[in-house]
Amino acid sequence: MSDFEGLKALVTGGASGIGRATADLLVARGAQVAVLDLDPSSVEKPLLAYRADVTDDTSVREAVAAAAADLGGLDVVVNNAGIGAQGTVEDNTDDEWHRVLDVNLVGMVRVARAALPHLRESAHAAIVNTSSIAATAGLPQRALYSATKGAVYSLTLAMAADHVREGIRVNCVNPGTADTPWIGRLLSKAADPAAERAALEARQPTGRLVSADEVAGAIAYLASPLSGATTGTSLAVDGGMQGL
Ligand code: NAD
Repeated sequence: MSDFEGLKALVTGGASGIGRATADLLVARGAQVAVLDLDPSSVEKPLLAYRADVTDDTSVREAVAAAAADLGGLDVVVNNAGIGAQGTVEDNTDDEWHRVLDVNLVGMVRVARAALPHLRESAHAAIVNTSSIAATAGLPQRALYSATKGAVYSLTLAMAADHVREGIRVNCVNPGTADTPWIGRLLSKAADPAAERAALEARQPTGRLVSADEVAGAIAYLASPLSGATTGTSLAVDGGMQGL
């Protein structure tokens, strides 16, 4: 299939996990893809790589401008860069709140702001934000992270309303526990990582974690002209977790 033939996409956090799987899938479906990441050293052709920190407005503006110039425009933005945080409201400091909100929420705003002038020139403009099951599931020990992802969901609805008449669609995906380097890092801190992984898998209705490719598939659908009448939605990719 070539749903993305002729389309140009930017994927933030595209050097790893869900972002990398998305960048690879969009390329396989015919897109030209630029990756924006803190550390794009692992990103290889045909992907284009741009080093930027989504908390630094100047670096975001420069990277988005360079990507749009090199690609010859932008049709799709996958706003995916994000970091985790654990704890209750008593555990995280103000600095931690500001830091994680800055990456997970304001980072997406900065990327969208820099990309919107380019998206207005596209006949198939779409933004897909990576939210999380944490936005709506009420997970324990995830107060800060959940608040950032709930805000991403609300941002998605508001942006969809603001830009629908300009022909720009805005949707989000809500992954459950996805098997990415992020989860690998979390598990490696456990006393018995293999037992912890088995327990995590046992908590999933499917008995396994969601794969990065499965999240990428949902993002690709929302980014593609196949979902041309869909805006302001969230698509759960959680193996049925939220239905419990
Ligand atoms: P990951 O750690 O494998 O990849 C995240 C990427 O984002 C990395 O390449 C990292 O360098 C980049 N990044 C981090 N901070 C950045 C910054 N300030 N500027 C630019 N790039 C930055 O993680 P992942 O699991 O693939 O997560 C991707 C997204 O999916 C995140 O937004 C995360 O919140 C969300 N998510 C993940 C899961 C999961 O279980 N893995 C579940 C729900 C939502």
